[in-house]
Amino acid sequence: MKPLDLPGGTGFKHFNRGTTKSLPKFRKCNLFLMIVIESLPKIGMDLMKFSYLHLMPRPAPKRLPKLTRRVGRVDRGAAFFVALLCLFLASCDSMNSESADPDEKNTDTLLYDGTWTVGWPQLGHDGKPYESERFIAFSEMSSQASRQSVANIAEEALDDILSILGVMYDEFTFLPSYTSRKIHIMADWNQMAQSGLAYRDGFIMRALDSPRYQSAGYTLESYRRVLQHELTHVTEFLLIGNPARQQANDVWLREGFANYGARHHRIQTVDELDAWQAKNANVPGGGNPIGIHVWANFPQSVIANNTTIEYYGFFELASRYLLDANGNGTTIDDLKAMYEDLGNGMLFWTSFENRFGMTISYYEANWWELMRTYLASSQG
Ligand SMILES: [Zn+2]
Repeated sequence: MKPLDLPGGTGFKHFNRGTTKSLPKFRKCNLFLMIVIESLPKIGMDLMKFSYLHLMPRPAPKRLPKLTRRVGRVDRGAAFFVALLCLFLASCDSMNSESADPDEKNTDTLLYDGTWTVGWPQLGHDGKPYESERFIAFSEMSSQASRQSVANIAEEALDDILSILGVMYDEFTFLPSYTSRKIHIMADWNQMAQSGLAYRDGFIMRALDSPRYQSAGYTLESYRRVLQHELTHVTEFLLIGNPARQQANDVWLREGFANYGARHHRIQTVDELDAWQAKNANVPGGGNPIGIHVWANFPQSVIANNTTIEYYGFFELASRYLLDANGNGTTIDDLKAMYEDLGNGMLFWTSFENRFGMTISYYEANWWELMRTYLASSQG
């Protein structure tokens, strides 16, 4: 799983933007030809019908002058010839269609007015979204059934997240301009299968019916998990409310809570914790998740090797501890209170200390010991 969301830039490596607005000229030319060729069967059939009807032997109207009748016959002959040519070209195209690029799309017809296009990837949609109770699922090429599927998965995931958070949908703060009060989904045909991207009003996910998704060995279960991770980010932004403050918390807690919201509690044993510590003994920061305040805090080798995802399990463990009465003794209500603080402009470190009863520095310095005790008691 490579959820990628809101990184300070580097995470976009995972995000395959696919086709953009500016296609090279020769591809545009190809698209034009494809459209022309695709319409050939209909043109051909119409012309066949026309020429058949008009070539049937019947008495020429007496009142027509000779010249007109002759010209008419020449025209009908030409029409019949053009019709045959059209049908021939169309049949050539259908023989070649299997080798056509399945990712090809006519970007000239796409709309770029989705909420994700504001400061986020410029992915177009076809203006025919599927709407469910709380979601609007856009896509550029996905079938309507597939848009409906992703919206249904999102509806289920949202119910689960709301139950974890203990909030009602009405409590979310949408932007005043965002009158639909529905969360947007962009089901992108070209995006890498195992990644997603959350933004203020919604998230971008792989289109379920894309051949690239089908061939990635990706399961519906892992798809649901990534979706719920991204949707947890969105609910966090909507609870913080103030768009300028939506990333005021640290990366470790933002990504950790997104995995927590997806019920992805990967790290369960002291052995797993020990193995991670040993593996990172010579890595800057030693693998301590609390040291990852901003994206640039990831060690260079981790960024270079695209292995930031390995930290996510420990981000989640650090978050789980804070939300567990048997861990830090604080709960999800403290986290929600912290979101409110952040929305009101309070510094993350100040709010964290107020709500969770320790400083970030203390948590970082004592993290290994606290987790070892916590995991040992959970196991035992
Ligand atoms: Zn994330």
